Amino acid sequence: MNFNGTQIPPGVSSVLIVDLEAIKHNYRHIQSLAPDTEIGVSIKSDAYGLGASVIAKTLASIGCKTFFVATIDEGVKLRSDLPNTEIVILNGPTANSEWLFVEHQLTPTLNSLSQIDTWKTLKKDNIPCKAAYLHIDTGMSRLGLSINDVSQLCSNVNMLNELDIKVIMSHLSCADDEKSSTNKKQLVLFNTLVKQLTVITGPVRLSLANSAGCLLGSDYHLDMIRPGASIYGLKVTKSAQNPMRRVVHLLAQIIQIRNVDHPSTVGYGATHKINQPTKIATLAMGYADGISRASGQVSNKDNRPFATAFINGKVAPIVGRISMDLITIDVTQIPEAKPGIYAELIGNNISIDDLADISGTIGYEILTRLGQRHHRIYKGLDN
Ligand SMILES: *Cc1c(COP(=O)(O)O)cnc(C)c1O
Repeated sequence: MNFNGTQIPPGVSSVLIVDLEAIKHNYRHIQSLAPDTEIGVSIKSDAYGLGASVIAKTLASIGCKTFFVATIDEGVKLRSDLPNTEIVILNGPTANSEWLFVEHQLTPTLNSLSQIDTWKTLKKDNIPCKAAYLHIDTGMSRLGLSINDVSQLCSNVNMLNELDIKVIMSHLSCADDEKSSTNKKQLVLFNTLVKQLTVITGPVRLSLANSAGCLLGSDYHLDMIRPGASIYGLKVTKSAQNPMRRVVHLLAQIIQIRNVDHPSTVGYGATHKINQPTKIATLAMGYADGISRASGQVSNKDNRPFATAFINGKVAPIVGRISMDLITIDVTQIPEAKPGIYAELIGNNISIDDLADISGTIGYEILTRLGQRHHRIYKGLDN
């Protein structure tokens, strides 16, 4: 079987196509917005579910030298794939984990006074380890040093001056809304706290922006930006059009066609009623594959928008409840719908962000929940 030029092997029910050329394009687009700034790409949670190893190697091949993951485990697993890059652990060191940072040459983000203490035990013993990132909280109340912590550090010079701090970073809470006054407030607070800290640390590099922050303009770029979602093609701002190329295409095979020509119902709960001759196609995909049950229709009286499949660009609405492994679609108007062919659930006709809007969530969550069952095809892997 073939889908828009992509060869699909026999026996494959669902396909997740990850377009590496689009990923490279998106990386270069971000680079063009911030030409003098280093890009460290966020590949946490297996590169938002798309495969951290392949994606990071692809990005490393076009010059990316720094990667962010959330957990120590993630960093340990990626180290052998990314020998000459900096792997930064956003969650920082936990109790008794310091030696893992040393063994795998991972870079810690120090988020609290206690993490600073943990890290200092290595420094005291002169153990060779990477220079650290220091995370200060300017409005998330999640990770990072509080304003109070920063004053404590600044009044107790010994706490910081033996640490080798390479980057001071913070994280924006409202970057997806360019009109929000919170962005500017965080930038101002960040600069104020940095000024106090660098009296002790000496010169460091500064980083504030995630994907949406990159689009707020050069004031926010500083020395390093940390995009993730935009690299994977998501729309990261509320207002503007999405300048990123679509990376993800999700296909499901039709495994059965039913011509329902009498009054009948479709799916669990018999919620979808059929009163006229209708052709129903059953797809080998379900909520276990990331198409959330909430994105389907509750009944045919439901007026909300609900998810739609596409066959050759033609709309095939999802009808009836989405099951764990199966989705039923109405293909009455699509004569070419036959067992064996593939329908698009995410792709050129419906973006991840469209699906997220329908599902009452954000693209990030759709992406990270696509699951492990799909046959994965990395387009552009060998060039
Ligand atoms: C996840 C994360 C990013 C990347 O955010 P995107 O919105 O995906 O670009 C950047 N910085 C930090 C601290 C993060 O946790």
